Amino acid sequence: RNVLHWFRSKDIRQDDNKGLHAAAKKAKEGNGSLITMYLFSPKDMEWHGTSPARSDFILQSLRLLKTQLEEKNIPLAIVVAEERGTKTQKVMEFVKENDVSHVYANMEYEVDELRRDVSVAKQVLEEKEVAFEVLHDQTVVIPGTLTTGAGGPMKVFTPFHKAWLAETKSNPGLLDTVPPPPGNDKSAQTTFKSLFSTEVPSLPESKQYSSAEDRTRLRELWPAGTEAGMSRLQTFLETKVGPYAAHRSEPARDPSSRLSPYFSSGIISIRSVLQKTLAHNKNKQFDAGDRGIASWVRELVFREFYRQVLLTTPHTSMNLPQNLKFDFVAWEDDDEGWRKWCEGQTGVPFVDAGMRQLNAEAYMHNRLRMNTSSYLSGNLLIDYRKGERYFAEHLVDWDMANNTQGWEPSYTIFNPVSQAEKCDPEGEYIRKWVPELKDVKGKAVFAPSERLGKAEFEKLGYPRPHVEYSASAKRAKERYKRDLAEA
Ligand code: FAD
Repeated sequence: RNVLHWFRSKDIRQDDNKGLHAAAKKAKEGNGSLITMYLFSPKDMEWHGTSPARSDFILQSLRLLKTQLEEKNIPLAIVVAEERGTKTQKVMEFVKENDVSHVYANMEYEVDELRRDVSVAKQVLEEKEVAFEVLHDQTVVIPGTLTTGAGGPMKVFTPFHKAWLAETKSNPGLLDTVPPPPGNDKSAQTTFKSLFSTEVPSLPESKQYSSAEDRTRLRELWPAGTEAGMSRLQTFLETKVGPYAAHRSEPARDPSSRLSPYFSSGIISIRSVLQKTLAHNKNKQFDAGDRGIASWVRELVFREFYRQVLLTTPHTSMNLPQNLKFDFVAWEDDDEGWRKWCEGQTGVPFVDAGMRQLNAEAYMHNRLRMNTSSYLSGNLLIDYRKGERYFAEHLVDWDMANNTQGWEPSYTIFNPVSQAEKCDPEGEYIRKWVPELKDVKGKAVFAPSERLGKAEFEKLGYPRPHVEYSASAKRAKERYKRDLAEA
C-alpha cells in the first residue's frame, strides 16, 4: 500500500522535511511506495487575499519540487478543491482512490488549518482505518513548549529569546536535520486515478500579475525553489550578516537576508539555515562570537515566538487582536487617507517610500513595515486589519503569524520624520522610492512641506501631509484610552 505525504504551502521542499521523511521511512518499512499530494484551493487564496507574487512563487516552487521528486519516481498529485468547504472531502477521495495506508503532514498552526486537519484525521481513521500523523516542522523549538515559571506559554519575547537560546544549547539535537526521501523503486506504480492531476496549475485569473513585465521582474527578485533560497542564504552569510547588527534598521543598505518568502513557504528549512549559520560563526554559538549572527538569529527567534503566540492565542488567526480590548476601538473611515496610504501618497516621505517599495517589490524592509503600519492605525486611525489585509494582498512573504503580530495595535506611534532621520540619515531610501524628492537637498527630504519654501515645495508635485503628526497621534491615543477603558 501507499504512504502519503501531504505538502502544504509551508513545507514546499524535500530537504529536511519532517513529514516527508517520516512518510518515506514508513513506506520503506511496509514495502510500499511513497506518494505525495498538494491540496490546491484557489478559494483559500481569495480568502486570505494571497498576493499574485506569493501565489506565483508557491506554484513555481511546487513545479521545481515536482521535477525533483519525479527524478526519484515519487509522484506529486495536485488535488484541487474548488470550494473551501470541500477540502476534507477531496483529501478523502484521494486517500480512498490511491490505496493509502498512512497520511503524513507537517502541522500548520492557524485555526482553520488545525480544524481541517482534525476533520481529515477523524474521517480517514473512521472510514478507512488510515493513520494520520502530523509533525512539527516549522520551528526548532515546538510552539507552546517554552513555558513560564507558572507553567503557561511564554508571551513576552525577551524571556522567550533567553529560554530559546538555553534550550538549543542544552539540546543541540533540536537542530538535527533529516535526509531527503531516497525514492521509490523504478518499477513502482506512480500514476494516479484520472481524477487527480499531476500538472501544477497555472495562476488563477484573480492572481495574475498586472503585466508580463511585472511577472518577469518579480520572478527575478524572488527566484523560486530551495536551491535559490539556500544560495541566497550563502550570499547573505558571506556578505551581509557581519554588519547586520549595526545596520539592520537602515533600509537604504538593503541590509537583511530577503529570505522571508522562503521561510514563509517552507522552501528552506529553519534547521538547515541555523546549522549553516552556526557553522559560519567562529564561536559556534548563537549568542556569542559574531554580533551580526547573534542579532540575525534573534530575528529568527522572533519567527519562532510568533508561531508560539499564534498557537496559544488562537483568536489572533481569527481576525482579532491579541489584546482583545483593541477590538473595541472606534476606527475612522477615512477613504482618502486609505487611498493615499495604499498608493504611497500620504505626504510623509518615509511612509510613502515604504508603501511604494511594497507595491513595486512585493516586499518592504522591516523598519518600514513598522512605520507604515503605525501610521495607518496611529495617525490615520484606520482599522489596522485593513492594513494587515493589504499587506497579505501585496507581500511575497505573507505569513499569518508574523503579519498579525507585526500589526498588533498598541499605544506606540512612531514619528516617521525622526524615524527617517535616524534610519535613513542620508535620505537615500526616500529618494529612491519617491522620485519627486530626488533633487531635494539635505534634511528637507524628510519633511519637505515644512522645510522648503512654499514655492519650492509646490514645484515638486508631491502632496502635503494628509494629517499633522502630533495632533493625529494625540487623537489616536485619546481614542484608544477611551475605547479600551469601556471595553
Ligand atoms: P531578515 O532581517 O533577514 O530576518 C530573517 C528572517 O527572520 C525573516 O526572513 C523572517 O522569517 C524572520 N523575521 C525577521 N524579522 C521578523 C519579525 N519582526 N517578526 C517575525 N519574524 C521576523 N514577516 C513575514 O515573514 N511575513 C509577513 O507577512 C510579515 N508581516 C509583517 C508586518 C508588519 C506590520 C511588521 C512590523 C513585520 C512583518 N514581518 C513579516 C516581519 C519582518 O518585517 C519580515 O520578516 C522581514 O522584514 C523580512 O525580511 P528579511 O527576510 O530580509 O528579514
